[in-house]
Amino acid sequence: MPSANARSHAVLSVATHRRNAELSAGRPDDGSPTDPTTYFGCNVFDDKAMRRYLPKAVYKSLRKTIDLGMRLDPAVADAVANAMKAWAIERGADHYTHVFYPLTGLTAEKHDSFLEPDGKGGALAEFSGSALVQGEADGSSFPSGGLRSTFEARGYTAWDVTSPAYLMEIPSGMVLCIPTVFLSWTGIALDKKTPILRSTQALSQQASRVLRLFGVEPTMPILSSGGLEQEYFLIDGTFVSARPDLLIAGRALFGAHPPKGQEFEDQYYGVIPSRVLAFMADVERQLYRLGVPVKTRHNEVAPSQYEIAPTYETGNLSCDHNQLVMTVLRKTARRHGMSCLLHEKPFDCINGSGKHLNYSIGSPEVGNLFAPGDNPHENAQFLVFLCAVIRALHRHAGFLRAVVSSASNDRRLGANEAPPAIMSLFLGDQLTDILEQFRVGHVTGSTGKRMMNVGVDTLPPLPADPGDRNRTSPFAFVGNRFEFRALGSSMSAADSLVVMNTMLAESLDYAATFLEEHMQGDQARLGAAVQKFIEHVMEEDSAVIFNGNGYSEIWQREAERRHLPNYPATPDAVPVFSSPEVVELCEKYQIFSRQELKAREDIQLEQYIKTIHTEASLAAHMARTQIYPAAVRYRQELASSIASCRALAVPADSTALEELAAVIASFEAGLRTLEEHMAEVEWMPEESALLKTAKTCLEVILPDMDALRAQADKLETLVADDLWPLPSYQEMLFMK
Ligand code: ADP
Ligand code: MG
Repeated sequence: MPSANARSHAVLSVATHRRNAELSAGRPDDGSPTDPTTYFGCNVFDDKAMRRYLPKAVYKSLRKTIDLGMRLDPAVADAVANAMKAWAIERGADHYTHVFYPLTGLTAEKHDSFLEPDGKGGALAEFSGSALVQGEADGSSFPSGGLRSTFEARGYTAWDVTSPAYLMEIPSGMVLCIPTVFLSWTGIALDKKTPILRSTQALSQQASRVLRLFGVEPTMPILSSGGLEQEYFLIDGTFVSARPDLLIAGRALFGAHPPKGQEFEDQYYGVIPSRVLAFMADVERQLYRLGVPVKTRHNEVAPSQYEIAPTYETGNLSCDHNQLVMTVLRKTARRHGMSCLLHEKPFDCINGSGKHLNYSIGSPEVGNLFAPGDNPHENAQFLVFLCAVIRALHRHAGFLRAVVSSASNDRRLGANEAPPAIMSLFLGDQLTDILEQFRVGHVTGSTGKRMMNVGVDTLPPLPADPGDRNRTSPFAFVGNRFEFRALGSSMSAADSLVVMNTMLAESLDYAATFLEEHMQGDQARLGAAVQKFIEHVMEEDSAVIFNGNGYSEIWQREAERRHLPNYPATPDAVPVFSSPEVVELCEKYQIFSRQELKAREDIQLEQYIKTIHTEASLAAHMARTQIYPAAVRYRQELASSIASCRALAVPADSTALEELAAVIASFEAGLRTLEEHMAEVEWMPEESALLKTAKTCLEVILPDMDALRAQADKLETLVADDLWPLPSYQEMLFMK
């Protein structure tokens, strides 16, 4: 039970952990080899394993399915399942599971044993093609936003062949994990993976259309690539057990600012403490075995904050791998006596955690389509893809904002550290200048600035990695890719990827049609058509480009003048899901039906309400049972000390007591207000009232919690330290 006692135990035990970690720093504690090239991907049914375990013809057929994104030939499913089973059992697996990604953003799995009774008292290891390809899952306990009424509660999972199966190490051995989509029997997407696959197809079709106008005939699909940087906090586990808020809500609901925060900036890229290093090395070894190409690790800006980033992979795989990264981080932290906090803002007053989605599109055949080329022809193509992104973001910024909204990410977006809630595009001065020249040329004829001429002028060379890296922009062009930084650290990256793919597919569709119309089948007119397209996009959509300081007040006003959407909080953002633009976009490219969009909107609101309900209940409970008792005990102590002094005619000042009593009174009042308001909220509203409840959370409950916290944090600076039950910011952030 948390008490001042628990707090002091926590402080003591951290010291022990630290000593042990120093002894074993960096060395594998599982006896595994240290050279990752010898074991990278050893737990993945990858190309090497397929070659070894599959008959040649089956291998070829499966490979074609994977590379060309085709449906798995049912005739080979049994052979693939058999090979996979043999491979998995050899490595110690006795169960398999279809892993899927329900709309909560978490990872879900249901384990089934390979063993089937043989009817003669024995058992056989069975795993058929149909068990590989399709599984049944009772979906009724996953949020569906009204998509499944209970009589059709069962959904099914189906293997996504483009994401390889792998073995997850668990304490009792290994489980064969098969990444799957999760659908209702009527084909409605109940998960986050299905729309990735749908949007990938739409993107590939439209990108190929544009490429064909440039004389390129792609035979392979054009895919998106994702590189996901993941930030997290690492806190000693004993502190977390002594803090119900960290344990249950993943963030500190109370806590006075420490004397030292992140002002000194001595943490960023600083030396990684040995205990943390041991943890990171352990995480990396597990991820290497799972074939996750982890590349970088470093300290982040805030104390006890770190980052891990794999090398980029196809968008779909990068999302699956990011889910694995989060799972392994959490699990490994526990093993090292720590807790990995993926919450977007675990500690007020220091930086929160985000996830950056580095995004590009292309294929081995056509290369990266966001990389500027070496000659005018390639550059013309690059500019078309660049302009498609500009247009896409300008038109669908609200949708992209909506998918990264949550109660926890609201605490970060718009605060003074993370990208603002306005989804603008940072292009850098050089590219902006080039594009501006097209617009100016178009608007003013030939006066003033010179007009760029596609196909005639060579673009000035573009630096591969532009030096001016604007950290305040939520969506930045960084040389050969876009970096989307508004994602929350705990979120699935799938939704962001889906919106980027979809909005880009639409703009590429628009570009292809525009170019086709202007070319009229005459290839010689390509340059002129591209020229017109760039002028047109700059004229219509360049309002979304902003290279200045995204944190400034001026930008908020400027963005309003430019009619860019600015949704500061979740209840402002999610209604975008049912806006006509979004419904039309998603239906046109068959990413989401109106019904599927509505479900997502409802689930996001439901989760928002649940989060705030949990936090508010927890805050009230901690205030009443932990903070209040500590405060009145100290008031009593002060009062009796003063009384005793005065009884002995020793002068005693009562200022401290009066100050404390006044804060306690405000604290009690704040607590009562919160409890009263909480009692008035309909916490489990009907679908039609979700938005109303969410708004009450935002406008009433959150301010109540802030007001209560302000008084509680004041008390922390007044009450005797030995009576204070909660580990302090200083202890949690600096003891490791
Ligand atoms: P920084 O912190 O400077 O943004 P990192 O090295 O931490 O850089 O992360 C950059 C991420 O971008 C990595 O995951 C990297 O693999 C990824 N990346 C690099 N090139 C591309 C690309 N063309 N498409 C998508 N992601 C990319
Ligand atoms: Mg980055």
